Amino acid sequence: MDKRDYYEVLGVGKQATEDEIKKAYRTLAKKYHPDVSTEKDAEAKFKEVQEAYEVLSDAEKRETYDRFGHQSQNPNFGQGPGGFGGFEGFDFGDIFSAFFGGGQRAQQGGQARPRKGADIQRRMAVSFEESIFGKKETIKVPVFEECRQCHGTGAKSASDIHTCSRCKGSGSIIVESQSLFGRTQTRAVCPNCNGTGKEITAKCTNCGGEGSVKTMKDIEVKVPEGIETGQQIRLEGYGNKGGYGGPNGDLYIVFEVKPSDIFTREGDDIVVSVPITFSQAALGAEIEVPTVYGKVLLTIPPGTQSDAKFRIREKGAPNVRTKYKGDQHVIVTVVTPTRLTPEQKRAFEDLRRVEGTAASQSSTWEKFKNAFGKKN
Ligand SMILES: [Zn+2]
Ligand SMILES: [Zn+2]
Repeated sequence: MDKRDYYEVLGVGKQATEDEIKKAYRTLAKKYHPDVSTEKDAEAKFKEVQEAYEVLSDAEKRETYDRFGHQSQNPNFGQGPGGFGGFEGFDFGDIFSAFFGGGQRAQQGGQARPRKGADIQRRMAVSFEESIFGKKETIKVPVFEECRQCHGTGAKSASDIHTCSRCKGSGSIIVESQSLFGRTQTRAVCPNCNGTGKEITAKCTNCGGEGSVKTMKDIEVKVPEGIETGQQIRLEGYGNKGGYGGPNGDLYIVFEVKPSDIFTREGDDIVVSVPITFSQAALGAEIEVPTVYGKVLLTIPPGTQSDAKFRIREKGAPNVRTKYKGDQHVIVTVVTPTRLTPEQKRAFEDLRRVEGTAASQSSTWEKFKNAFGKKN
């Protein structure tokens, strides 16, 4: 099934302000929240709303979505260690607490649920040539990793970890509250220990009790062949460390292709402009044309006009998904010489003598004479 437009999902216009988007989201999230909604497919609809909001509430993601549509959210490139982007793994607990109060909602077991680490986004500039042929590059990315000193516990030593006094180690507490839906009892994550069931009396000196430290990490990025500006790849698990045993976030690399002096890309085709002389245009010629794959001979037929276009098949850019190559379009421009040698000058003067009649017979001159000439 095709994905619905995010604006349509939230029922707002393309020009909607941040506030309007937020308001629409709150209304729909309440309507479809799986815990309270009686609607059929509430969960699916809720996810749809959540996904739309994730994108439209983030200025950068929204701009990319406006330019490239759903494609931009889920690039099917399949390069590197990553798979495909997606929105699985969002947290019902987060939204529950955002709208219904009372801290995070706990799972049945009472422990804090595993959390996926935050995603990281990086821009990478590549040359035009690299965008065609791809390349491997190692980049440094700051990543939160598990603290080596405390192995993620956040404690100075094992003896500094005690059972939480508030939840007695269960990680959750019962909260009674008056909410939109009447008086409810919910299990919530213990705020004293954040659901870990443990209290730390002395914090780890290396990470300050966070359990993770920021590290510069070398990551090899494989630039896909045929990549274009604005397209991205996802390196799964190369983002920040997850919480409570949850998976790491992902690293997104967004590419920016620097313009070439010679080539311009149009979709999967490449356009190049090549100068030719008067005589080549008039008499025809075989000219050398640059392509990203090397020089190619192109036959220009006699009588070629300036700005005529020729196509060289399969010398364009590889499609980033299919790898099929586009074509190269060659635009020939007839260049008027500015400095003539005496010999060239004589040749042009000879030409002028013999072409005088040809120009006056051309259809343009006929039309011109018909419109203006006969009156005088
Ligand atoms: Zn506790
Ligand atoms: Zn530590």
